[in-house]
Amino acid sequence: MTTSPPPWRATVLTLFPEMFPGPLGLSLAGRALATGLWALEARDIRASATDRHRSVDDTPAGGGPGMVLRADVLARAIDEAEAGVADRPRLLMSPRGRPLTQSRVRALAEGPGPLIVCGRFEGIDQRVIEARALEEVSIGDYVLSGGEIAAMALLDACVRLLPGVMGSLSSGEDESFSDGLLEYPQYTRPQEFEGRAIPAILLSGDHARVAAWRRQEAEALTRDRRPDLWAGRPATPKKPPKTTTDG
Ligand code: SAH
Repeated sequence: MTTSPPPWRATVLTLFPEMFPGPLGLSLAGRALATGLWALEARDIRASATDRHRSVDDTPAGGGPGMVLRADVLARAIDEAEAGVADRPRLLMSPRGRPLTQSRVRALAEGPGPLIVCGRFEGIDQRVIEARALEEVSIGDYVLSGGEIAAMALLDACVRLLPGVMGSLSSGEDESFSDGLLEYPQYTRPQEFEGRAIPAILLSGDHARVAAWRRQEAEALTRDRRPDLWAGRPATPKKPPKTTTDG
């Protein structure tokens, strides 16, 4: 008998562990969770508070509204979560972070699974970010009330890429961002909907022409909607010759 490798495992530190698995317990991610393709541990930051009132936050130094998560409590929560666990990415969901991308998602999915800290209130004490080398990750230029929904978004994006989670055909190779492009338009039955027909080429059975049409649509969409992606896409054609010069 061979021992299977440990599954991809995510640990989430939160003041609201009851939010998990939440939507990650349904559909694709939920089935994968139930069958052990990945594991999720939601830990209550408050369990690492030491005072009588189990306080986790305090007023901001220098004044101002709201409350800030304490460095000592959060550091203890991180250390307790990591006891006996091998090295893995330590993320802090934060609007100040580097915006999450599909390539970062892919890298995280290929690793052992991250530890994720969810902020609340005004955020967390800067010193624990530095002392525990937390990598700040944002899911977009808007402010949520807590890191939990952001963590779920990140986990959902990772889990669908884990081996065995998606059907073998939907490997993600054709998807938005995989080729630096947004995805082409999709159609299914009925053949006519409110006077709109499916583009005839998709019904032609000519796979090469279908592929060319999809490529052209994807490029047009990307140029139009995301000039930033269009400008930053790799200049090389789809399958560049293998080189040994990288790194
Ligand atoms: N005062 C902070 C915002 C705090 S919002 C600021 O201006 O930067 C409370 C928590 O929600 C944050 O600590 C973070 O964990 C989470 N959060 C809010 N917006 C987010 C975003 N766009 N991406 C990831 N996490 C976010």
